[in-house]
Amino acid sequence: MSNEELWKAVLGEMELSLSRANFTTWFKSTSILSKDSQSILVSVPNGFIKEWLENKFNKKILDSIRNLSPEIREIKYVIGVPKVDLKQTLSKAILDRDIEERTVLELDKDIDPATNLNKKYSFESYVVGSNNELAQAASLAITKNLGKLYNPLFIYGGVGLGKTHLLESIGNKILSMHKDSKVFYTPAERLTAELLESIRNGNIEQLKSNYSKLDLLMIDDVQFIAGKEKTQDIIFSIFNELHGKNKQIVLSSDRPPKAIPALEERLRSRFEGGMIADIGTPDFETRLAILKTKIADKNYDLDNDILTYIATNIQKNVRELEGALNRIAAFSQIYNKPVGLKEVKNILTTYLNSPYRKTSPPVVLKSVADFYNISAADLVKRSRKKEVVQPRQVAMFLLREETKLSFPEIGQKLGGRDHSTVIHACEKIKQGEAGDESLKQELILIRERIYNSLDK
Ligand code: ADP
Ligand code: MG
Repeated sequence: MSNEELWKAVLGEMELSLSRANFTTWFKSTSILSKDSQSILVSVPNGFIKEWLENKFNKKILDSIRNLSPEIREIKYVIGVPKVDLKQTLSKAILDRDIEERTVLELDKDIDPATNLNKKYSFESYVVGSNNELAQAASLAITKNLGKLYNPLFIYGGVGLGKTHLLESIGNKILSMHKDSKVFYTPAERLTAELLESIRNGNIEQLKSNYSKLDLLMIDDVQFIAGKEKTQDIIFSIFNELHGKNKQIVLSSDRPPKAIPALEERLRSRFEGGMIADIGTPDFETRLAILKTKIADKNYDLDNDILTYIATNIQKNVRELEGALNRIAAFSQIYNKPVGLKEVKNILTTYLNSPYRKTSPPVVLKSVADFYNISAADLVKRSRKKEVVQPRQVAMFLLREETKLSFPEIGQKLGGRDHSTVIHACEKIKQGEAGDESLKQELILIRERIYNSLDK
């Protein structure tokens, strides 16, 4: 396997566990410079990205490389010019994942560096259903009355349900109407990194002043600033500056402001001060309509029974609907024939059971603990405090559902508790999942954390 092929495989895996915006931010213009018997040298475009890959993604990149090259022990990152242009290697596409990768790399060139917006997202390509109609209507409404109607607009909902699509549509629409508007889109994670870098380099005031000149600022996945005090401080001051001038702010998160742990009260109340709209999971009709829009976009055709099958089997996440379509399209391209329902069933089974979706007990525990803003040790301890009892039961339930540990093994992992305690907890949470709307929502969000975890 050549270095390019190896890196492409790694990128393919990373892409599955990250949002597109994040994936492009951290992985564009990276490549393997060299490989010896035990280590790999990865070229990255700048120091900012180097640091993030080292600190946040190294373990996952290493795991992914070692799946293919088990002898590798270490990855080093250097700032430099990438030796290979990934785009050129794509013509040799042989793996189905290339199709998805190609989508991502094409995205790259669609991103306008001045606004950070991706042109492909628009209101026209956004399918409206009962799950997202309020969020969509509010988004469209603010484009007609920027800064004066709902400010901020706060959109929340689970992973892959169309938050980023809406944010970017707002930005693109504003630019299409007023091409001189100062519009900027940024994932909160990237903003955080950028702020910290500026603090270090002593040009934070300059950065703040740049942000304060915007007409429209969109911060995506703002839950990432939980617990980051310095970042929250600066965002607070940028927020006030813009808000005071009636400049529009749009935020997205996986949950409402009041459920973001370790968010400063003053920022929470700012986030709640405009309009809050949620996006839920699409119903069957909406899923089918989304599939139809996507295949029309791709100039691709699939029979209705196949679309129905996909819409029936993938329910929770629009990104997965698209992922499934990409795989099917890749399959039919590689084998150069239309696919039937039987092949589709096969492709989807593999897709839905891919190893990236599997998890481990520490990941489950960490995801539960992080979600409730307690420590994993609290889950294990013998405490009966209210704040830890339910999270502990949720942990037991999710360990059972997501890792296939036995009841006694789960008891062991959680501080040597009896298996009957575990059974009781699992039953209780299972009932709650069916009847208690807020617990149900919590479980969805925790599961997303588990699936998206970078610490696998
Ligand atoms: P989120 O930001 O909520 O995680 P995204 O906006 O990235 O989700 O959406 C994931 C994918 O699903 C994107 O490719 C997006 O275009 C698509 N998508 C989500 N909702 C819709 C919708 N209602 N209509 C069309 N495409 C959608
Ligand atoms: Mg998003």
